[in-house]
Amino acid sequence: MFWDPTYFLFALPALLLAFYAQWKVRSTYERYLKVPNSARVTGLEAARTLQRSAGIAVRVEGTQGVLSDHYDPRTKVLRVSRSVAESASVGAVAIVAHEMGHALQDAEAFALLRLRSGLVPVVNLTSWLGPILFVLGWMLNLQPLAFLGVAFFGGAVVFSLLTLPVELDASRRALDLLKRSGIVTDRKGLKGARSVLSAAALTYVAALAQALSTMLYYIFLLGGQRRRRG
Ligand SMILES: [Zn+2]
Repeated sequence: MFWDPTYFLFALPALLLAFYAQWKVRSTYERYLKVPNSARVTGLEAARTLQRSAGIAVRVEGTQGVLSDHYDPRTKVLRVSRSVAESASVGAVAIVAHEMGHALQDAEAFALLRLRSGLVPVVNLTSWLGPILFVLGWMLNLQPLAFLGVAFFGGAVVFSLLTLPVELDASRRALDLLKRSGIVTDRKGLKGARSVLSAAALTYVAALAQALSTMLYYIFLLGGQRRRRG
């Protein structure tokens, strides 16, 4: 099963989508890193401005890496990567505003974000244990164990599914924040911000497709095993 060509049939579309999404995010971000925003503020300045105008208790900090920007709901810290912090572009402020969108969700106790954050430790465990249980069940011919593995892995699918509306909502808030604060007001800039955010959303669609295709492959294997047993 480990070198099963059928696996590639299941996995390939999602894998291609993931590569495409990664490429799309990078290239769109880089394109709009060259387009200055209306207010000519850097990502870091935008983070501070948006935080003040939203009136929420969020600490803004720097972080290593490229496109590693994120909001941590446990510590209420918004981390901004260096290229975003220093750039006065549409691309940089779009990313900052998206993370601020997550901070606003957190401040409003947005139900889906809460649910998603609460599930993180559970899903971390089940998505790690799921494939192990499945392989064990498969090799030892213990169908209930294999099914349990599939069900555990299903947690990862549900998690990816919950992530999508949370991300789309953060991006919707981001565009609103950018317009209202006057950071991005021109048509070209808004179009750019929208492109960056759409490309980012695509990576979450790809993650969902990957989780789903792996689970379908497991189910397909179990179905085959059942048929062989007659
Ligand atoms: Zn996000």
